[in-house]
This record gives sequence, structure tokens and C-alpha cells, in this order.
Amino acid sequence: MEAFDVAIVGGGPAGSSCAAFCALAGLRTLVLERENFPREKVCGDCLNPSCWPVLERLGLAQRVRDLPHSKLASVEFIAIDGHKVIVDLPIGGNCELSVKRSLFDDLLLKRAREHGAQVREGTTVKALAHSGNWKIETATGESFSARTLIGADGRNSTVARLCNLLPRPARERVALQAHIPLPRNFGRRVVLQFLREGYSGQAPVNETELNLCLVGTAPTISRLRQWAERHFEITANQPWRTITPLTRSPVPCAQENLLIIGDAARVVEPFTGEGIYYALRSGQLAADAITKIIRGKDRQSALREFTRACAEMYRGRLWINRLARAAVSWPRVGSFFVHAARSQPALLKLLTARIVSREL
Ligand SMILES: Cc1cc2nc3c(=O)[nH]c(=O)nc-3n(C[C@H](O)[C@H](O)[C@H](O)COP(=O)(O)OP(=O)(O)OC[C@H]3O[C@@H](n4cnc5c(N)ncnc54)[C@H](O)[C@@H]3O)c2cc1C
Repeated sequence: MEAFDVAIVGGGPAGSSCAAFCALAGLRTLVLERENFPREKVCGDCLNPSCWPVLERLGLAQRVRDLPHSKLASVEFIAIDGHKVIVDLPIGGNCELSVKRSLFDDLLLKRAREHGAQVREGTTVKALAHSGNWKIETATGESFSARTLIGADGRNSTVARLCNLLPRPARERVALQAHIPLPRNFGRRVVLQFLREGYSGQAPVNETELNLCLVGTAPTISRLRQWAERHFEITANQPWRTITPLTRSPVPCAQENLLIIGDAARVVEPFTGEGIYYALRSGQLAADAITKIIRGKDRQSALREFTRACAEMYRGRLWINRLARAAVSWPRVGSFFVHAARSQPALLKLLTARIVSREL
């Protein structure tokens, strides 16, 4: 059985960023990823400007800008009755941009490989055992051994479930996502539109395609899909990707020899478009902690530092997340905010600025 310093389950932004930083630090690093890349995933495809410093450290900022993308100039909030408020987004090199996850995630995973991580795609982790080292078993019967295990396997994390950390599934909202032809004159805006049944997020991802997300509940999601079919003139056989839950309680991010990062640790409301940032950054923080432990730093103090740094990453932001969640869970409340913002735009501008510009 091959032995690694660190095994990372999941090769999304959290897992790839962690793997790249671990491999760069000289650790024997393994990534086990269920899918074969490139693959799409349910996401609005928008990169919050806070991602740039992590992408710079990964040596990827320019390569991300070289991918087909759209530079986003404004966010347009639309109330149920159609009234709108437009807020400008920061401009310049480090602006918010949208890029398909098939391209972005593939680039990140390649970066991990370039730094020396061993990446196994099409490999689903099924079982874990811990006795000193971790023994990780895959669906195809392969086994790997690692000193440290990282759960980077998304909101329905198998690692968290197998370690009895995942909260019991609650009845939760559902998201649908598709790439559809870009409507003419759509412009370089993100649209966040409240609808009676939930909400929709829309953003161009290149010259020809629009990312379209719908968020509702099990009983309302088919009506949202019908709304999208009418509104964007798409056919009833349009394929949609789907995901649930949109919310769940966080999971403790550090245990003995086990770190949980990205969505696996904490799921944030997609409305604010920050999940990829948290994934990239928590991947970097986890890699720092493991590197320190392997180089001889006291394990408990390295884990405490990691836990503190993760909490710091969310500090002052979770209330915005709760506000967004309230707005989208009751679209009439969200619409009320849009109306209020038409006469008092400063508040919405301030909230948007908090989300898209962060002191690091
Ligand atoms: C509707 C919607 C819109 C969103 N829009 C945005 C947005 O515009 N901007 C933004 O920043 N964030 C957005 N997000 C959030 C963002 O998609 C996530 O926060 C981000 O993908 C988290 O990255 P991750 O690496 O933690 O997990 P993921 O990207 O989910 O990656 C996890 C990986 O683990 C793999 N995996 C899972 N189980 C196993 C297993 N057992 N074995 C091996 N591999 C496994 C999966 O195949 C996957 O590749 C949105 C989310 C939703 C639901």
C-alpha cells in the first residue's frame, strides 16, 4: 500500500489548492477525486475578487485570466415585481470575473499535479480506518495510507459522514444550474432576481454562454424551471445539474490528523458568491498547518492556529450570509430590500462592497 504524508479527498478548489500548497512544501501528497476532469458543477461560476491573492500565491492568476471568461461590471438586483437596483462592481485587473468550473477546477487540479501531487481521478472514497495512520479505501478496492487526511469533498462530504461529523440531512432547498445560449445584449452584469418561488442567478461566462442558476424548494423548483424556460426561451429538455443542501450546520474543521476544508466544513449561501474563495483559502490554511506539523511543530498548537485562521476568514461576514439567506428564503423580504435600496442605495452598495472587497 502506498503511503503519503497527506491524502486529500476531493479535487475541487479546496482540495486542489491544499494539494498544490502541500506538494510545493515538499509533502508526499495524494488527491482522490470521484469525477474525471474537466467536469462542470452546480455553481454560479463567479470568482469573488478575494480569490486573486490566493491565485497569485498559486502562480495561477494570469492563467485564470487567460481562460475564456467574462469580466463582470455590475450586479443587478431584481425584485419580484421587476423593479431593479444596479450596483457597480470593482474594476481593474482584480475585478470579479466568471469562468466555467470545468475550466477553473481543471486548471487548479493541473497545478497540484505540476507541483508534484499524485492525482487519481475517477476514484471514489468509500471507507476510512484510523490507527496511527489513515487507511483510505476506494470504490474500486484500492487502498492508500496517509499520516493526515483532508476532507475536501464538498457539502455532502463522505469524509465527514464516515467520521460521524456530518449533521443529519434536513429538508433543504435545491439548486439547478445550466449553461444556456447568452441572450443578446445581456451585458457584463450578474443578475440576482427574486421570484415568487425562490431566486435566480445569471452571469455570462464567455462570449456565447450564460450561467443560469435557480434556487427553490422541492415543491417549487419545477415552477422555477418553467419560469426559466419561458424567460430564456429554452426547451423543456434542457439538461440541468442539481445539488442540495444549500445550507447546513458547519463541521469542526480540525480533529487529530483530520482537517475539513471548503464546503465540506461550512456551506455558505450561494447568493453572495463567496464559496470558491473560502475553499481556496481554507485549502491554503490547511496546507500551512500540515506542513508545520510534519516539520515538527507541536500538533495541537498548529491545529489551534488553523481553527483560529478559519474562524478569522469568516469573521464579520457570517451576518451578511444570514441576511442573504433570509432575503432568499423569503423572496418577498428580498424584494422589499430591493425596493428600500432604490431610495437608499447606500446600504446595498455597502453590503456589496463588503462581499467583493476584503482586506487580507
Ligand atoms: C447554486 C450555487 C451557486 C454558487 N455560485 C457560486 C459563485 O458564483 N461563486 C462562488 O464563489 N461560489 C459559488 N457557489 C459555491 C461553490 O460552488 C462552492 O463553495 C465550491 O465549489 C466549494 O469548493 P470545494 O472544493 O469545497 O467543493 P466542491 O467544489 O464541491 O468539490 C468537491 C470535490 O469532491 C469530489 N468528491 C465528492 N465526494 C467524493 C468522494 N467520496 N471521493 C472522492 N471525491 C469526492 C467531487 O467530485 C468534487 O470534485 C455556489 C453554490 C451553489 C450551490
